[in-house]
Amino acid sequence: MSLRGISKSFTLGGNTIHALRDVELAVVRGEIAAVTGPSGSGKSTLLNLCGLLDRADKGELLYGGEPLPAADDVRRTQLRRQTIGFVFQSFNLVPVMNAYDNVEFPLYLLGVDAAERRRRVHEALERVGLGGLEEHRPDQLSGGQRQRVAIARAIVKRPQLVIADEPTANLDAVTAAQIVSLMRELAHQQGTTFLVATHDDRMLGHCDRALRLADGVLVEGARHVH
Ligand code: ADP
Ligand code: ADP
Repeated sequence: MSLRGISKSFTLGGNTIHALRDVELAVVRGEIAAVTGPSGSGKSTLLNLCGLLDRADKGELLYGGEPLPAADDVRRTQLRRQTIGFVFQSFNLVPVMNAYDNVEFPLYLLGVDAAERRRRVHEALERVGLGGLEEHRPDQLSGGQRQRVAIARAIVKRPQLVIADEPTANLDAVTAAQIVSLMRELAHQQGTTFLVATHDDRMLGHCDRALRLADGVLVEGARHVH
């Protein structure tokens, strides 16, 4: 995924806030890129644009080599559903659904048939070490287990890109380390790319590079250093 000269501003009560200014960035397959910077520096805005949840005002987003016109909502929604997974700090699981149903949900949206859904949900839950806990609802799981359900839900559609917002913020040290190593495994074995907003030093140390934002400007990490 590449961003070329991406800018995004918001107008609030007559003031214009430049949330992102002329961001140039290329993220390669299978890398874990951390997005850092103080509150208000543009991290969420960057994640929303890369996750095709929002549109830039200016610049070009290339996705799998394909330039993505901001206007093409149908294509953007299709790409988001098929190729991008989301993981949030607060997990965003459906409380009345058990782990199995939470993970299965994105496959419904994709119209995957029942047998294939079953196979892939089991595979995803095994992958995150939750085999046997299919019937548990979120309130019957620990924080780390909930985050693993959220990761299983993100990866069950075999996305090329996973967008994660502070995925380890609510987790203890041991659990955070497990989540980080799970991400590394997925990046390494399946070529999944991770774009992770994080302040967590436990996470930062394991990322391939850190992108640092300051006042909407990408001040560090735009180029991949090998
Ligand atoms: P971060 O995630 O680093 O805290 P954000 O991307 O949320 O930063 O915000 C960057 C700037 O854009 C901030 O000044 C924020 O107030 C502003 N902003 C973000 N979203 C909106 C919005 N929907 N409307 C108005 N201003 C916004
Ligand atoms: P929509 O139908 O709202 O256009 P999609 O169903 O295509 O969005 O969303 C794709 C993925 O993005 C889903 O896994 C969904 O859970 C996630 N998602 C989108 N927006 C949000 C959000 N604001 N909060 C949590 N998850 C979101």
